[in-house]
This record gives sequence, C-alpha cells and structure tokens, in this order.
Amino acid sequence: HDAGGDPLVDGLNPAQARAVTTRGPALLIVAGAGSGKTRVLTHRIAHLIREREAWPSQILAITFTNKAAAEMRERIEGLLGDASQGMWISTFHSACVRILRREAERFGYVSGFTIYDSADSRALLKRIIKELDADTYGFTPANSGAKISKLKNELVDAATHAATMNENDPRERLFVEIFRMYEQELKRANAFDFDDLIGQTVHLFRAHPDVAAVYQRRFRHILVDEYQDTNHAQYSLIRELTRPVEPEEVERLVPPARAKELDASGRIPPASLTVVGDSDQSIYAFRGADIRNIVEFERDFAGAEVVKLEQNYRSTQNILSAANAVIGNNFDRQEKHLWTSEGDGERIVGFTGYSQHDEARFVAEEIEDLHRAGLAYSDIAVFYRTNSQTRALEELFIRSAIPYRVLGGTKFYERAEVKDAMAYLTSIANPYDPIAWSRLLGAPKRGVGAMAEAHLANFQEAQGVSFHEAMLRAEEVTAIGPKIRATVRALGEMLVRASRMAVGGGATDVAGEDAKPAPVADVMKLVLDETDMIEKLRAKRDPQDDARAENLEELLAVAREFDVKQPGAGLLAFLTEVSLVAAADDLDDSSGTVSLMTMHTAKGLEFKAVFITGVEEGLLPHQMSVDEIGGISEERRLMYVGITRARERLYLTLASTRATFGDVSVAMPSRFLQEIPEGLIDWRQSPGEVTGRGGTASRALNAPRSSGGGSWSRTRTDSAVTFSGGGSGSGAVSEPASGNMQSALDKWRERKRLAKEAQASGG
Ligand code: ATP
Ligand code: MG
Repeated sequence: HDAGGDPLVDGLNPAQARAVTTRGPALLIVAGAGSGKTRVLTHRIAHLIREREAWPSQILAITFTNKAAAEMRERIEGLLGDASQGMWISTFHSACVRILRREAERFGYVSGFTIYDSADSRALLKRIIKELDADTYGFTPANSGAKISKLKNELVDAATHAATMNENDPRERLFVEIFRMYEQELKRANAFDFDDLIGQTVHLFRAHPDVAAVYQRRFRHILVDEYQDTNHAQYSLIRELTRPVEPEEVERLVPPARAKELDASGRIPPASLTVVGDSDQSIYAFRGADIRNIVEFERDFAGAEVVKLEQNYRSTQNILSAANAVIGNNFDRQEKHLWTSEGDGERIVGFTGYSQHDEARFVAEEIEDLHRAGLAYSDIAVFYRTNSQTRALEELFIRSAIPYRVLGGTKFYERAEVKDAMAYLTSIANPYDPIAWSRLLGAPKRGVGAMAEAHLANFQEAQGVSFHEAMLRAEEVTAIGPKIRATVRALGEMLVRASRMAVGGGATDVAGEDAKPAPVADVMKLVLDETDMIEKLRAKRDPQDDARAENLEELLAVAREFDVKQPGAGLLAFLTEVSLVAAADDLDDSSGTVSLMTMHTAKGLEFKAVFITGVEEGLLPHQMSVDEIGGISEERRLMYVGITRARERLYLTLASTRATFGDVSVAMPSRFLQEIPEGLIDWRQSPGEVTGRGGTASRALNAPRSSGGGSWSRTRTDSAVTFSGGGSGSGAVSEPASGNMQSALDKWRERKRLAKEAQASGG
C-alpha cells in the first residue's frame, strides 16, 4: 500500500503512522494526553489484520474499561468491515475471567465461580475480623482489605507473606491470620475477589506451563492501552503471555504445532507486545499501579522500539498550555511538549463561589448557557475529587432541570431488590456460594428463620454437598419443622431446575450435553415467576415498591438485551459482565445528559466542555495526599488528567467556604491554580474578590423529585436523585454500598452462633 488512499494511515501524522505500521517484538508508544494513543492502537490492530499478519483470534487488546473495549471493537469493525470475530478486546479483569472460567478446574475451582466485588470482600473480612477479635487490635475491613489487596497486587499470598513477615510483631501475625482465613473462605465459597482474577491467572500460568502455552501460542499480538496504570500483577501477566513456548511444551500442544509456527530452535516465538501510555497520567498508585512498568519497558522487553507522539488533537492550545504548566511542576518526569495546530481557543474560565452552593449555581448557569449556545448536554462533564461533592451540584441541577447522570454513584446493581434477584442467579451458577444462598433464602420472606438456615448450613457443610443438594435433602434435617422442610425442598427443586436450564442440557433436551445454555432472560423469568417477586411488590401498592418492581423488570430487560447482544453466551457470561461493570461503563453518549464523575473515572474520555470543581487545597490536592511521599505529584497528575479531558472549554471552579459534615471551613485556592499562567484564566470571580463570608445560596433545599421515584433506567435522569452519601476517603474509586451484603453476613454469623447452640443442645 502506498501512503495515499490508505484509510488506516491517511490523516495520521508521521509518528502516528510509524506506530501503526512498524513491526518488531516490542513497541512502546509514549505520549501526552490526547495525542492519539488509543487511536493509534486501534489502527494498528486493524492494520495487522488487513495485512494478514494476524487473525482476529490471535489478537489480545487490553483497555481500561469495558466501555473503552466496546468502543475499540466498534472502531476496528468500522475500519475493516465486520472482521473482529474471535478477537479479545477487554479489560485485564475480563480477559482473566475468561481464562479462569475455562481453566478453573485445574486448581480446585468450579467454572461457575462467583466474583466478589469490593463490598463483598469487605463484608467477608468483617466477619473474619469479628471471629478473630481482631477489631480490638485496630483491624478494620477497610484497612486489612487495602493491605490484602496491595499484597495481592504484588502477587504475595498469605503463606508467602507469613514467611517474610516480622515474626515478633503480634499485629503482623494476626494480620496473616486474617489474610489466611480470607483466602480459605473465598475458596470455600468458590469465589474470587477482584485482585484474584489477575493474580490467580498468573499463578495458573506459572503452575501449569501447558495451560500457559495454549495462550502464549494463541495470542500473537498483545496490545495494552493505559499501560502507565498497570500494577505488578498485571505486568506479570503480560510477562507470562509474552514468553516463548519452549520445545518440551510445544510437543504437548493440541492441536500439534505446525512447522511454520516454530522458529529455528523449535520454539514458538513470543507474542509481539505493544503498549501505550503516558506516565503523566498515572493516577492509580493507591491501587498498586507502578509507573516503573513504563519507565523500564525498554529494559524488560529486549529490542523494544519507542515512538513518541507530541501533537495533540483534542484540546485547544490554551487548555494544553495550562496542562503543560501544571504537570511541569512534577520533577520526576520526562519532559514532554504537547502542542496543537488548532489555535488558542477560548480562555479558561475561573470562578470562586462563596460556598459550594454558590459554586454549583455558577456551574449550573454556565451549563445552561452552553446548552443554549448549541452544546449538547452529553458534550459536558463535571469533575470532582471526591464523591461527596456531587450533592451540592445535584441539588442545583435538579432545580434547574438540567438532565444529568452520576457515574459511579449508587448503582443499579446495588439496589436491594436487584441484589435479591442477582443472588438467585449467582446461586444458580455457583450452588456453593454461601452469601448468595443466604440472601435468596429470605428474599422474599418465606418463613425460613435464622435457626432453620443454620441447621441447613450445618447439614450442607457436614455432607459436603452444594447448598442446592442440601435443600433437596431437607427432609433429613429433622431439627427443622416439616412445613419449612417442604418449603426449602421446593425452593431447592426450583434452583436445580434453573441450574440445569442455565448450563444447558436439561432433561428435556434431546441434544444432551451439547445443548446450549438457555437465554438468561428465561432463567431470570423462571426465578421471578416462581418467587413471585414482582407481583408481591406490586401488591403492596406502595410507590416505592412499585419502583422496586420496575427495577426488576428493568433487570429482565437488561438480560434480554444481553441475550440479543451475545446469543448463546448464557448465565455465567451475564454474571461476569455484571460483576465487571466499572464506573466509566455507565456512560452513554446518546443519553443527552451532563456527566458527573470523579477525575479518576474520567481517564481516557473527552468532552467539549469540562468543569473541574473544588479546585482547593485539601480537596485537590486532597488532604490525604499531602503527607504522603509522592502524594502531591500524583494529585498533580490527576489535575493534568482532568484538564486534558477538555476539548474546547475548560472551567476551574472553587468555593471560599465549604461545609463538610456540618462544619463550615474556609477553603484556600489550590496550588495548582497558581501554577497556571495568569493570562490563561479569565476569572469571573477570583479568589481575591471573595471575602469568605457565609454562603448566599440556601443550604436546606427541598429539591423536587422528578417523576419515577427513584426507579432506574439507563437514560432516566432521576436515578441520580438518590445521593450516594459517600464522601469519606479519596473518593477515587467509589465503593459500592456494602449494607446489603453486610446484613447477609450478620445473618450468617448469627446462624453460625445458633448452629453451635443447636448442636450443643443436641438438636
Ligand atoms: P488519552 O491520553 O487521554 O488517553 P490518547 O492519546 O489516547 O488520549 P486519543 O483519544 O486516541 O488520544 O485521541 C484524542 C482525540 O484526537 C480523539 O478525538 C482522536 O480521534 C483525535 N485524533 C487523534 N489523532 C488524530 C489525527 N491524526 N487526526 C485527527 N484527529 C486525531
Ligand atoms: Mg487514550
């Protein structure tokens, strides 16, 4: 192909074109924000396929969110026509789930394993801490969970940690005990936590070279976006996948390797690796992201080629100049110079409110102006450092009837009734999961008390069978009254029936084991019909319960949508997808709403107009970061990420007083504001003009609730009315509310206690 008339290279600048067309064992594309890294990666994949250098199935592309993955797939299909079948484009987590589901049996798990989200694992930890009385030594689910997560991201398990810890430290010994029990409980529940997904895959590859060989052989091209935010576990995964298949493993391959797959020494050569990233955008150190992965790439991957991109295609020069100025204050970085041919554009608008309500009022008014000037609401985003900041904004948006969505707020899947229904599905897929089972037993209420539950769980444990099997044999648990036994048995039968349906090959199916799993919607329908959940809610004639019933119907609709999108994929795939939805995945461009999100969530995205709110000391940089080594640098990178999301208009706003938890405190402008050259900011109200007297906007605000009463849908804006009430911590990654799971675990603990009593009394 000559340079002209090639849609994959046309319109790219020379550096970008090289990044698309160059070949070799390893390629590192380092570049600032908005320089086309993601675009180049997409074109490179399309180029590999079009040039017949790879089949789609030989490509593994890693993105930061599922949404980014879907976008990339769409773009590639747009570039090539429909040729992305069999290509793996996914997040690290999704790719690992796929591998683990296939290979789970190799290490004592069952393919239907549950994925615990952070709320689930915190709840599990809470129980363990109670059992060990570790709370009196200052252990909390949050601090022990963070420590476990950190270790897992370093690929350190409890045994390894025990071997290297300071034996003389009793606190450390106790921690190891917590860690160990946590591992055991997860295994027993046939569950993985989020960090496990990656760590266990690495572990699998290292323990089973023959399994690793299958994937090392399959993926000939591995491409990773946002490489600066990979942690050690993810890095190790990449290392494992990019090893050659040695001759002794080549021999064991099925189907056997063909001669042309092999190099001169009889190995299958390693996959070629392309990574793109920007060390100035590394903002996940608190989750173990290691900037060294990108800095040391050339050393780690021999023969690596490096391409630098400097032209920015996203933002105006004013916005870029501000971004360059801010990030220039980080000393531990490689100098980069971003420029654009687009011209200066508008100046950045600054505004200081008397209070956060005044600030929010300004934001709302400006949004209305932008909208009147022709900007779609979906082109506008409002960023903040912590989730607690949304409240003032939401109040004003509701009042001004600005449609908006909060990304990463209280999520659909965290609602009680949705969790109830999902507990059924989880148990149907994994009949060993105690948490799902415990939840479904009481939803809806059917008279199975804590005592009966305890007896059943005891029986289950003693017999070493699944919870479903235990329910089928409820007659044997004579300590429970006959009526409850019958109820439990009937429920067990329903679950078993649903399980058969879900995996395929049900009794009525002539095709036997080859039968496809039933559509998810069918399984869900069975559950909803048999439990009568929706009808029971409707019968209460309470608008709140009506909304809950609607949510269940919405869940059914989600399942139908899934069945259409992924025909034949089945329940497991559905559960996997649900448990992997990340905050940024909520985003729907066509929804016509303003997007509210933390700056962490904003990574990789772009909007015509961006508001960064709360640009104050203590918020941005966040108070927590001030005392930490490297903390301010990380906050500065976050600010850089925020600024560089804006294409045309950027607003930086702050308040001179801010009320948090009932206290009103005086807020100082962020140091980052001072780092931006004065001439770039057009202050509508500068910090100096605001004396810091109390807020003028009323605080108590009876926001009218829009119709729909909290029921959820993808596009409806009223879902955001429920405030997440978060606000503690960094707010960086919004943790799902753990309340529901908590009560399930409290129940569990109570049940264990009752069970002990029951045993003691000879029952
Ligand atoms: P980030 O660091 O934020 O992830 P990025 O480097 O991945 O940014 P992209 O998102 O790929 O950048 O590109 C930024 C914007 O510039 C996109 O809208 C993209 O379509 C556009 N763009 C990139 N390269 C070109 C080009 N050569 N011509 C026109 N537009 C381009
Ligand atoms: Mg990108």
